[in-house]
Formats: sequence, C-alpha cells, structure tokens
Amino acid sequence: MDQQFIEGWDKAPNLLGEGAFGEVHLLTNRATGEAVAMKVIDTRIHAGVYEQARKEFTIHRRLDNDSIIRVYGVRKEPPLMYLFLEYAPGGELYDKIEPDVGLPQLEAQRYFRQIIGGVEYLHRLGIAHRDLKPENILLDNHDNIKISDFGMATIFRLNGVERKLDKRCGTLPYIAPEVLRGPYRAEPADLWSCGVILVALLTGELPWDEPTPTQPEYRGWRDGKIGRPPWVKVDSLALGLLQRLLQHAAGRRATVQTIRDSAWFKRRLRSDGDRWSLDGCPPPPARGGADDVPSFSQPAAGADELLLGTQFQNTQPGTASSQTPLQRLVKRMTRFFVTTNQAETLDRLKELFDSCGYTWRFTGSCTMTVQTLDRRKMPLTFKASVLDMTDHVLVDFRLSKGCGLDFKRHFIRIKQKLPDILLNVPVNWSVAAATNSVP
Ligand code: ATP
Ligand code: MG
Repeated sequence: MDQQFIEGWDKAPNLLGEGAFGEVHLLTNRATGEAVAMKVIDTRIHAGVYEQARKEFTIHRRLDNDSIIRVYGVRKEPPLMYLFLEYAPGGELYDKIEPDVGLPQLEAQRYFRQIIGGVEYLHRLGIAHRDLKPENILLDNHDNIKISDFGMATIFRLNGVERKLDKRCGTLPYIAPEVLRGPYRAEPADLWSCGVILVALLTGELPWDEPTPTQPEYRGWRDGKIGRPPWVKVDSLALGLLQRLLQHAAGRRATVQTIRDSAWFKRRLRSDGDRWSLDGCPPPPARGGADDVPSFSQPAAGADELLLGTQFQNTQPGTASSQTPLQRLVKRMTRFFVTTNQAETLDRLKELFDSCGYTWRFTGSCTMTVQTLDRRKMPLTFKASVLDMTDHVLVDFRLSKGCGLDFKRHFIRIKQKLPDILLNVPVNWSVAAATNSVP
C-alpha cells in the first residue's frame, strides 16, 4: 500500500489536502512512527511559482510559535519542490463549523483567541499572512489552532521600518476592502480577515462575497443594517467587536490590543457541555502542558536545504503511534459509514451526483472528483472516496478547491439523500483498520 518516498519514510496513499500548486501528503517514519506533512509544489504551473515557493519557505522557517505550523525543511527536485511541515492531525478549522449555525461561543472564543495570538506573533516579526481563512487554519491533536500556508506571506516591517503593500492577494470573501484598492497596511488587512473568520465561527456563514460597494450585503453592513443574517445570530458583545474589526477605514479598525481589550474577547464563558465530545475527546489541555511542548529546533540560519531522515529524527515532536497511515489521516467530520458494499456505494454516489447536476469523474478506482459551483458561483471541487474498512464501508469527502463552508453544505445535502444506507456508528479511528489500498 505504501510507497517508500525517502529512505525510512513511507508516503500514505491518500492525500492530506490539495493546494493551488500541488498536493499535500502524509509521510510516516517506519522506525518511529513519526508523522510529517509534505507539501509538493509544481513549479511548472506558472513562471512565478518557484520564487513564490522559495519565499514561502524563507518566511515560514523564521517562525517558531505554538499557533503556527512548523516547517522542517525544503527539498528541490526540479520541477518539483517539497516543503516538510509539522503534521496537523485535527484537520481544517472550517470542518468544525456547522454551516449556517457556527460554533458554540466558548469554542469560537477559544479558537479566535488562539488565532489572534498567532497573528500577533507574526505581526511582531513584521510578517503578514495575507490569506487568513478557515481553510488555512489547521488543528493539532488537542484541538489547538495552527496557522498554515505561508504562500502569500510577506515581510512588511524590517528593522522597525514599515512598508505598505500593494499586491492584491487573499481570498475574496476574507479580503479587506483596501487590499482591492491598494496600497494598504499589512496589519489591519490581516485583522480584517480575522473578523470575517469570527463571523464564520459564530454564524456558520460568510457575510459577503467581497467587500465592495456593488455587494448589497457589504453596503448594508456599512450602512449599519444589522437586523439581518448573519448579524442577528450574534450577541451585542460579539457584534461590538465585529463592528470594530470589520471597519471599512483601515485606520479606525481594531488593533490586536483593542481586540484583546474588547468585552467579547475577555468575556469568561462557561462550557456548554455539548461540543467537547465531538470526537469523543475531553476538553483540550491548557497551553503549555507537557504534551504541547514541541522539541523542534529551528533550522540553522543559511541551511537552505535540509535533508530528511537526519533532520526529522531528532527534531520532530514525538508522535509515534501504532496507527496505520490511513488511521492517521485527519479526523474529518465529512465522512460516514454505509451498509452497502464498495461497488454498491459507488453506484449510489454516481446516481446521486448525476441527480445533483454535479460534474464528476473517477480519479482512482474508488475515488471520484466532483465539480460544482458554490453559493457565490465560484468553482467548488471535492473528492469522494469509498473505503473498505475492516467492518464497514466508509465514505470520505474532502475539499479540493473552494469554500469550506459551502463544501460542508453540499456534504450535508448528500448525506441526507442516503438515509437508507447510512450506518449509525461513529467513525472511530482507533478500531477501524484499512483493508484495501486507496488510490
Ligand atoms: P491554496 O493556495 O489552495 O490555499 P496551497 O497550495 O497553498 O493551497 P496549503 O493551503 O498549504 O496549500 O495546503 C492545502 C491543504 O492541505 C490544506 O488546506 C490542508 O487540508 C492540507 N494540509 C496542508 N498542510 C498540512 C499539514 N501540515 N498537516 C495536515 N494537513 C495539511
Ligand atoms: Mg491553503
């Protein structure tokens, strides 16, 4: 099933994720069971990709913070480039958000506090992320956030001198209005994206397609029309913070300090007692616990090429376990067991995708790639894999491209259309064992 990619390391057969310039794979160390994510960047996609990937690594390697994915090394094998990253087993943040509902306030606050902590660290180093969104925020084993994807990151302050940025980059629903006009200041633009993420966390929806006057939702927000969704779903303290974060004028926008001082951020919330059990996990431990301290040390300055094998052996946090690579793949919520066998399940999915008007094709013997449009008429691509596990057949959906929240809406709709074959057992990775190879 596994393919030996680098001596001593196995590459898991299915992907952790897909990005604009390539795929992200899980590697496991044969001897120790340690896990690492490998982002493959295809520099042929367009002329600037090589430089961009170099910049991504150069910036990323300077970062050393618990709320940020660590990068361990880079390997160049033209036309491909490989980035070796700390593996985030908890999946992506959007996967935790219930579409149109959001998260309980306590959870939203906990994630948001961690996001602001990570962003504050980046800004202190003079680094802007420029593509903050739930798809780029991953989770560790303890449900702590890990900011990832530094493909758009840049340095905005060097030796105390700040420069304005002018590259229009990011993802439209999360982008600050001034970024579309440029030049813009880096810090308020990132904090705007954090504001949109907070709306997504609290309400399960995005407030607008883009922050331009042509968008009625954005015009309404600027005109103070808050008597409609998503604003009616948040309480006055959260709304107060959002009004300061999603302030059109970057100069009047909340700073990290004013966010920290806001009543909603400081508010002491009590556990609703309902959500911590999502994965059957107890409440995550406080930061700084023994489990939380990675023993990773930063690559030595100037050491551009770091060799796998030697680099990981002593630097990767201890993540050894007896899980199979498939079990180690992220704890996604977009999956379910069915009573039908693999072939029957594939037939049902084909029928269902046709009836939904999706475009689909097989991209593996039991994986289908599905294309449709999201609410904003933007392309949405996801993969559906039908996996034969020891006892049951598992149907696993993974976002390839597009809005995570809309992907979840489609997933819920698909699941609702299969009531007769759904098997009501939790996806418990500790007992499930893969019995087939996955393309
Ligand atoms: P895009 O430009 O489309 O945002 P990208 O090419 O920059 O993508 P990433 O966002 O870095 O790629 O990674 C793509 C996906 O791969 C992520 O959304 C995530 O699902 C998965 N992924 C990336 N890094 C890791 C990691 N360290 N651990 C687990 N999964 C990861
Ligand atoms: Mg990304």
